[in-house]
Amino acid sequence: MDKVYLTWWQIDRAVFALAEELRKHFMPDVIVGIARGGLIPAVRLSHVLGDVELKVIDVKFYKGIDERMEKPVVTIPLHGSLEGKKVVIVDDVSDTGKTLEVVIEEVKKAGAEEVKVACLSMKPWTKVVPDFYVFRTDKWIVFPWEEFPVVVRE
Ligand code: 5GP
Repeated sequence: MDKVYLTWWQIDRAVFALAEELRKHFMPDVIVGIARGGLIPAVRLSHVLGDVELKVIDVKFYKGIDERMEKPVVTIPLHGSLEGKKVVIVDDVSDTGKTLEVVIEEVKKAGAEEVKVACLSMKPWTKVVPDFYVFRTDKWIVFPWEEFPVVVRE
C-alpha cells in the first residue's frame, strides 16, 4: 500500500482548522480521544480550544499496516459519566470507520446529549465520515509521532 507522510507542521495546522470549525459549529464540553492515534490531536485540541475537558478510550483493532483483527475491542473503557454533555470524539483517521462506530456507541451509553466526530483525516471508503476532518486520502498515512528520527552514520 502506498504511504503518505504528514509532518508536525501539517498536523498542527490541521488541529487549528478543526478548532476553528468546532468553535463555529459545535463547541464541545468534553473531548474523547481514542488511544493511541487520537491522543496527540485530542490533547492539542483541548488546549487550543481553551482547556476543554479530555477523556480517553482505548480501542484495539489494527495488527499492522492495513491488517486488522476481527472487530475493534475496547481495552480501556471511558471513565465517568457524560450525562448531558456535548462531546466531540477525536481520532487521527477514520479508515474502515469501525473504531469510531464502537466509540460513538460507548459515548452515547455514557449519556452524552450530542456527539460529533473530528478526525485529522479520512479514507474515501469509510462508513463513518467525520463531521469535521482535514485530509482525505486512500493511502496509508504515516503520522509524525510514528516516525523515528533518521540516524545518519559515517
Ligand atoms: P478504522 O477502525 O477506521 O479502520 O481505523 C481506526 C484506527 O486504525 C485509526 O485510529 C488508526 O489508529 C488506525 N489506522 C487506520 N488507518 C490508518 C492509516 O492510514 N495510518 C495510520 N497510521 N493508522 C491507521
